[in-house]
Order: sequence, then C-alpha cells, then structure tokens
Amino acid sequence: QRPNSAAARDVRHQMHPYTNPVAHEANGPMIVDRGEGVRVFDEDGKDYIEGLAGLWCTSLGFAAEERVARVAYDQLRRLGFYHPFGGKAHTPGIDLAEALIAMAPVPMSKVLFCNSGSEANDTAIKLIRFYNNALGRPEKKKIISRTKAYHGVTVASASLTGLPFNHRDFDLPMDGVLHTTCPHPYHFGAEGESPEDFATRCAEDLEALIQAEGPETIAAFFAEPVMGAGGVIVPPPTYFEKIQAVLKRHDILFVVDEVICGFGRTGNAWGCQTFGLQPDMIACAKQMSSGYLPIAALMLNERVYAPIRDNAGRIGMFGHGFTYGGHPVSCAVALEVLAIYKERDVFAHAAAVGPRLQQRLRGLADHPLVGETRGVGLIGGVELSRDKAARRPFDPAQGVGPAMGLHLHARGIITRVIGDTVAFSPPLVITEEEIDTMVDRVALALDDTLAWCRAEGLL
Ligand code: PLP
Repeated sequence: QRPNSAAARDVRHQMHPYTNPVAHEANGPMIVDRGEGVRVFDEDGKDYIEGLAGLWCTSLGFAAEERVARVAYDQLRRLGFYHPFGGKAHTPGIDLAEALIAMAPVPMSKVLFCNSGSEANDTAIKLIRFYNNALGRPEKKKIISRTKAYHGVTVASASLTGLPFNHRDFDLPMDGVLHTTCPHPYHFGAEGESPEDFATRCAEDLEALIQAEGPETIAAFFAEPVMGAGGVIVPPPTYFEKIQAVLKRHDILFVVDEVICGFGRTGNAWGCQTFGLQPDMIACAKQMSSGYLPIAALMLNERVYAPIRDNAGRIGMFGHGFTYGGHPVSCAVALEVLAIYKERDVFAHAAAVGPRLQQRLRGLADHPLVGETRGVGLIGGVELSRDKAARRPFDPAQGVGPAMGLHLHARGIITRVIGDTVAFSPPLVITEEEIDTMVDRVALALDDTLAWCRAEGLL
C-alpha cells in the first residue's frame, strides 16, 4: 500500500466490523467505488455481482435511482431533521407508519421507528419487560431465541444472537436470554429422522426448556423466518406450527425478526406469510429502504401495546426512543422504495425468479465439495462439506470457507461465506440471466476451491 493511498489511510484509521484486524492491516480493504444494478465496481473498475445485496438489503440494486435521490434531496431541503419525541411528528413518519401497518402480515397496532435491526430487537426486549411489568408479573422476563440465530450486536440483541463470535470475549449472552435448538435437520437431525419428526423434537426441546425454567418466567420467543447470518437455515415443514402451539400454551409472546426476510426476500412480502407465522411483534429494517438510508421499525400488536400505553400513561412517560429514530429523510426514502415495490411488483418478480436461483443452487449439490444446498425465494445457501456422506464439516482452522470466499472474489462474485456456507441473497431485481451468470461463477469457484483443498492435502 502506498503511504497515502486510500487503502493505507483506511488501515491507519478505520476499525472494521466482522473483520480479522491483523489480516486487514496486512492486506488492506477492498474499496468499493460505485454500483450499478446487481453489480459493484472496485476502484480499478473491476465489476462484481453482489450476491448478498450488500448485507441482505439493497433490494433495488446499488445505485439509487433519480426519483429516490430526489425525494431525499427534497426532504433534506424541506425538513432535514425532526424527531418523534414529546409527541412531535412529521408527514414522512406518519405516512410510513401507516404504510407498514397497512401491509403488515397480521394485524398490528403501532410502529416504533429505530435505526437498525439491532435497535429494533433491543427495543422489543425492553417493551416486553415494560409489558409484563404493566401486567404485574415482573418475573416473566426471560427470552428464548435459537442457536445460530442472528438478531444484532447491541448488548441485548447480541445476547439473542446465537453465534459464538458474538458472545465470546464480550461476556455474553446477558442473564435471562436462553437458546433452544437450531431447526437445521442437516446438522441437528438424528439418523433416519424425517424433517417433520425433527420439527416435533425442536418443539419438544422448547417445551422442555420452558418447563425447566418455569413457564411463568418466560416472556418471549424470537425467531427469524429463515435464519440468515447463522448460515441460511430454512425451517423444516411444520416447525413453526409446532413452536407456535408451545408459545400459545404458555402465554409467551412471539417476536418475528423480519430484518432479512421482510419486503419480498422469501417470495412473499413477509417471511411470516411464507411460513404461517402469527407474531405479536415484528422487527424490520434493511429492504425497507433498500438499504439506502438507515431505518428500522418495530411493529407491535394491540395485545402488547394496550398495557404499555396504560402503564406509561400512569407513570407519565414512555421512556425510550432514539434521536434519529424515524428520521424524516430515511422515512421519505423508505416510502419511495415501498412505492417502487408496488408499482413494479418487485415482490412478484422475486417470487418469479426465486425458483431459478433455487434450481441452479440445487444443481451444485453433486459437486464433491457441496454437502447441502438450501433456500427459498431469493435467499439460499451452499454448504461445503469435508465428507458428504458423514456430513462432516471442515475444521475452521483449515480455512476452507475463507478460501472459497477468495476464489469467489477472483471470479467476480461478492458474498458472505458463513463458516462453510456460502450465502446468497441478491438484490430482488436480479434477472434470471444474472442468476445464471452468478451461479456459473460459483461453480468455477467451487472447482478452484476443490483444487486448492487437494493441493493443501485437506481431501
Ligand atoms: N436481525 C437480522 C435477522 C439480521 O440479519 C440483522 C443484520 O444482519 C440484524 C437483526 C441486525 O441488524 P443491524 O445490523 O441493522 O443492527
């Protein structure tokens, strides 16, 4: 790196999330310069298909179109900041809250705006406490999520997250957050067990955890419809039906994290619709604004809202909110993005091309390195395996996942390799031709990685 190059300045000054800092200091950043549709370009002009829509968010592609930019510009000039504290409101916030309630997959009563998925889930935990305190049962406080869940990185939402990197050395999870079985039959199913029987066992595990802790202490269960950052894990048939029956039996609130699945990712507007979920609260973000500006929302139903309202009324204040929550420019941009979804039937497009992605990923299943392919709609995963028959993963120390990432990069594909799983969540506007190009390149990167594994003596 030349001393004053952008790369050198990055290494000097910026700390990067989800990055090995030692390797980063040696190798420097990839500087992403501009975007066009499903592609981004680095500073040398090399183009990449962005297989993860950035971080599962740029549904409409990487350069916002003129009308979205115009809305942001106009809103900045008209009212560049205002907040919802102390009963203030602005029209973009009012319009967006109304639009979200109107499109919610189940009846919802209120929207509370946040800036990120982490904040929305963190806020949900606080509301659950407030709700149970309002009902005079402060002991009903514990929260259950799942191993391999991803719900964010604040102290509370990282506790919900069920991944070792998010807990280790951060002294997490915090007290009162428990994790139950990950619904991934490939790894956690027993020999010869059907997916439905595995789903029954997951629900029994949940029931057993609730009984062990005491049902009167369990306040809520959090779940992503498809687990994203845990490795694109699609629940087996009947899983959520059985889980929801357990929750109902013990008066446990159900919070659905639609941060990835919301706004068309699974072939419907909401993951809730794809899997028949009846949540009390919904967290959403990312594709709500196509990732163009930060905005997130927590929706809550009347069952949750009414006691909170009464309690806050009694004590004189609902003491929670973020300076930038429901920022007028973010709200205006999100509204324009929702308008584009509707005008162009973007969710129907995603539903129409999703089967192409799934079919092409399934076509990789015969590759010697591929253990499992999975997905629904426009989200998918390809899991590498050291031993297909035994479903044996590689030792993380062997670095096969990162090597696959480098080979994908060299072939012009950017995506996340999560452990041994290559994740796909391209912009919703991707065409079938672009899907083909992407998966053709993935197949080449698999061959490259196989050759590398053999050269390293790993196979
Ligand atoms: N929930 C899910 C399902 C996510 O995938 C993410 C981020 O990837 C989050 C929550 C956290 O969102 P944020 O990074 O905006 O805090």
